[in-house]
Amino acid sequence: MGEIRVMRDDLHPPRSSERRHLLSIADVTRDDVERLLATARSFARSLEREMKKLPTLRGRTVVNVFYESSTRTSSSFELAAKRLSADTMSIKASGSAVDKGESLKDTALTLGAYDPDVIVIRHPQIGAAKFVARVTKAHVVNAGDGKHQHPTQALLDLYTLQDEFGRLDGLHVAIVGDVLHSRVARSLIQALALVDARVTVVGPPPLIPRGIEAMECETSTDIAAIGAADVVYVLRMQQERMQEGANYVPSLREYTARWGITHERLRAGQKVMHPGPMNRGVEIDPRVADAADALIETQVRAGLVTRMAVLYDLLTTGPVGVNVQSLHEVA
Ligand code: ASP
Repeated sequence: MGEIRVMRDDLHPPRSSERRHLLSIADVTRDDVERLLATARSFARSLEREMKKLPTLRGRTVVNVFYESSTRTSSSFELAAKRLSADTMSIKASGSAVDKGESLKDTALTLGAYDPDVIVIRHPQIGAAKFVARVTKAHVVNAGDGKHQHPTQALLDLYTLQDEFGRLDGLHVAIVGDVLHSRVARSLIQALALVDARVTVVGPPPLIPRGIEAMECETSTDIAAIGAADVVYVLRMQQERMQEGANYVPSLREYTARWGITHERLRAGQKVMHPGPMNRGVEIDPRVADAADALIETQVRAGLVTRMAVLYDLLTTGPVGVNVQSLHEVA
């Protein structure tokens, strides 16, 4: 993948372009993925400097609206916007007028009145980000809509994999656990298919969505199926999305006994990923989470530069790749 260089002029606040969004991995091409990962890599190099702030999005405004709890995603979007010198505002549903019954439409219209360049939104309803894109003039980034999509998570996971293995083509990733309720799994399976990686989904039968093979993945209910994978991607048991009274697994203890990721179940050198937040001792043994083969902290670091790349990419017209040297000069 070649490095793309930009001229100094491209580093000034970008000219306005057609309004683009990042709502789903289904909307991006392999070229988009490669461009975003290359941009993220350039930003990673810029963060090695003592002076980490870039002037790139000076004068732009990024609004983060989170209707669901979040640590990694909300903090990394906020820091990403700040590292690029954008003005940023973060709104959490609890403590806002949403608590008083304000609808998504009214909240979106209110925030839209400030003319933000980007609205980053997480919401429990499928399609919420698409809706905000319809009712505001901002570029919209989906930071998670129900169990549907979480595209920046998938991009940061690709970044992490490429960083670790130096390639994406032909990698074999086993995604283990509660796939049924997971937007992370849906986005990641699509993203891995885009880059010609192989995916095996593993978990209890009720937590593997029927027909998921149509997304170009294999399925297994036997945890031994992780053996052949380069990477074991562990999902959280998302109890907040489980229907009350539904018996997906007999008990969490039983889940841990049959599908929990322990050292005994991993091959030496097999890498482990988790989108967080982890339930240590449920889907992942704490010793696995803390071992050298766990890429979980790398994922968090990748989240910052990938989200910087997404914000930058949405607000610029063409393929980008940042020449760190010239950024330094401009700053
Ligand atoms: N943080 C991820 C998400 O928002 C994964 C999870 O919550 O389990 O979807």
